Amino acid sequence: ALEKRKYIKEKKLGEGTYAIVYLGRARSDPSTLVAIKKIKVNAQWKGGLAPDAVRELKILQELHHPNVISLLSIFSSKDQNVNLVLEYLPLGDLEGLILDVEGVKYGTADVKAWMGMLTRGVWFCHENFVLHRDIKPNNLLIAADGEVKLADFGLARFTADAGDRMTSNVITRWYRPPELLFGAKYYSAAVDIWSVGAVFAELVLRRPYLMGESEIAQIALICEKIGTPTEENWPGVTKLRDYAVPANVTPVKGREHYMSYFGSLGREGADLLMRTFALDPTKRITAKEMLEHKWWRSDPKPTRKEYLPRKA
Ligand code: ADP
Repeated sequence: ALEKRKYIKEKKLGEGTYAIVYLGRARSDPSTLVAIKKIKVNAQWKGGLAPDAVRELKILQELHHPNVISLLSIFSSKDQNVNLVLEYLPLGDLEGLILDVEGVKYGTADVKAWMGMLTRGVWFCHENFVLHRDIKPNNLLIAADGEVKLADFGLARFTADAGDRMTSNVITRWYRPPELLFGAKYYSAAVDIWSVGAVFAELVLRRPYLMGESEIAQIALICEKIGTPTEENWPGVTKLRDYAVPANVTPVKGREHYMSYFGSLGREGADLLMRTFALDPTKRITAKEMLEHKWWRSDPKPTRKEYLPRKA
């Protein structure tokens, strides 16, 4: 039976590699704005979503948290396209704020608020056995009330299953943990925590901390700025398929290093950042442990979301 579409597409909001995003409204309640994300055909799997992606999106439909974008519905249009109906987040993303150095001024209290929202969103996903796998400032969208929401779930993975050629050059490597760069086949929630650390560092520096131009360069940068992964600091690492590091071993950076680069965070903040950058994923701090860290309760207190800086 033909069913009238529940959502009406309006103007185009933007276009990414895998999708075109439209502003939309619910037919039943036209005052409710939504974002309709139409997945491009070439990013699809046999004319639809890869089975893994479907499973993941079904889980997401059930996952509701203030810091995770709500997936309200999924539908397919007559041209076989898969459409995701998402809550509408009108204030751009964290990348837009970080890069607008002239227009957007912010400080440690603001970074603490944004990091708190990011960490709670990641914690909630991990509690529910969902790994994001593509955390970066551009995927952290901002709601009308200032709340930061983790967006773009699982899409990286399903497009990797389907599109092959596209993936390696489009998915940004700057947020990728060493275990993935070394080709680990089994990985854990710790992959997301490394990315959270990279976002944390970038919020402070206002530019990416580890900007490798290739996977080899990315590994070299990690060795130089964080420390060289070795059997001593990460038992088993040399057995990973693609393990290769520069010959001159750099000792793992300690507190002083983090204080000199990220001193504006204070001792506790620098300590938290250091723990997100533990090379060995089994020693990396978890989202739950991050939330229990002293930094959140030390001064300055996080800015209330309604007072957070936003783009003009
Ligand atoms: P990219 O990851 O390259 O930004 P996306 O396909 O995720 O590509 O999104 C394209 C654009 O659509 C984004 O830059 C953003 O401006 C807009 N957009 C995506 N999701 C939403 C949303 N939930 N609410 C409002 N705008 C959105």
